[in-house]
Amino acid sequence: MIPQEIIRSKRNGQVLSKAEIDFFISGMTAGNIPDYQVSAWLMAIYFQGMSSVETSYLLNAMIESGTRYKWDATQRNSGLFVDKHSTGGVGDKTSLIILPLLVAEGLHVPMIAGRGLGHTGGTLDKLEAVPGMSTQLSAAKFADQVMKFGGAFGAQTQDFVPADKKLYALRDVTSTVESIPLIVASIMSKKLGEGLDALVLDVKYGSGSFMGTLAKAKELGNAMKAVGRAAGCSVDVALTSMEQPLGKTAGHTLEVLECIEIMQGKKLANDTRELSLQLAARIVSLAHKQDDPVYLQKTLAQMEQNLDNGTALEIFHKILIEQGADADCLMLKKTDWIASGTQKYPIYANQPGKVQAIDTRSLGLSLLELGGGRKKTDDLIHPGVGFSDFLKIGEDSDSSLKPLCFVHAASKSDFEKVKASVQAAFVVNDQAVDPQSSILIHSWV
Ligand code: URA
Repeated sequence: MIPQEIIRSKRNGQVLSKAEIDFFISGMTAGNIPDYQVSAWLMAIYFQGMSSVETSYLLNAMIESGTRYKWDATQRNSGLFVDKHSTGGVGDKTSLIILPLLVAEGLHVPMIAGRGLGHTGGTLDKLEAVPGMSTQLSAAKFADQVMKFGGAFGAQTQDFVPADKKLYALRDVTSTVESIPLIVASIMSKKLGEGLDALVLDVKYGSGSFMGTLAKAKELGNAMKAVGRAAGCSVDVALTSMEQPLGKTAGHTLEVLECIEIMQGKKLANDTRELSLQLAARIVSLAHKQDDPVYLQKTLAQMEQNLDNGTALEIFHKILIEQGADADCLMLKKTDWIASGTQKYPIYANQPGKVQAIDTRSLGLSLLELGGGRKKTDDLIHPGVGFSDFLKIGEDSDSSLKPLCFVHAASKSDFEKVKASVQAAFVVNDQAVDPQSSILIHSWV
């Protein structure tokens, strides 16, 4: 086969065959198709799209580009394999709570998570804010830990869906990220490569999301669900709001602490707690094929107990310590790592009133500016910077007493750099607030 003929077919809007897609992905992974041809092919897909059949050929070729996790019958008998994936946002930290909640239900969670992307944060970066914590696990160690402890938080290794690593790096620099078939194949190749029985996808919409509109989020959610189910995995999709940051914090250390507080049973950040519970309970129902509201409510109640009685926190501690986390830091016996190298500054609104809307993407970009994200893939992250005590949509701001949030910055000059944009991200006035704007879970598709 000739790469330029395959590029030409796609450029002209033709449907590619399985053989053509396999040829392209295996050639690229082996280094036989140069980046300039892969880039041209990606741009052709970006403009011409792919049918659902082509998308599943692409997905399968990507999964087969490396080694996948295959759990045998004995391993499955000791607990089903499940996971959650979120398309990402600002302050979106539910994975840290969901994994221990699921392990407490006797499920296995082989969570291969990602790093921050653009204005959105990544689970691995958040976890690595805990001193000593490592997510660079070999495939053998990862599988072993899942079987011994119920779950592991791992990074993508060289052998796990290498085609996605290569394609993603090229998409990032050729403006071809926002293509539904490419996103579906990228996300689902990694999730299905984990060898799952059930998966819940949290697809975000709104100002801080990657997809933007609800309609686009729905389209992406439906497409991922279709390929997941066709591959034999039970998949459900939640469309959830990123019209405001999730919870009270954004920034790596601050988010870990928010999760620890929730797992200590504190009910301060109710939306983080609520979303974690809803997604986790749905995964349990899906895994056990229990499409029954009573079962869901019972599971929810049991999970609330596991947050309140410390069971989830104990599992979280065990898993992180197994992955190298310093036990004294994690258990907050040692706290000097938390605010290390940062100062805390309040930001007030220009006028009193209710928070009407929040430009969440802009807050994500300010976090990046503070050093809490990467502008280039090899940039180092400052784990301690970020925001705390966000006022949420509908809450009252007092222009001199109750701040919109606190900025945790490495220096006064870093704070000054983001101050105006953080203040401008909050729309505050004395009008009534539309209840729709603070919705958390829009629907399940
Ligand atoms: N996350 C991924 O892993 N892949 C995409 O294409 C987009 C978000």
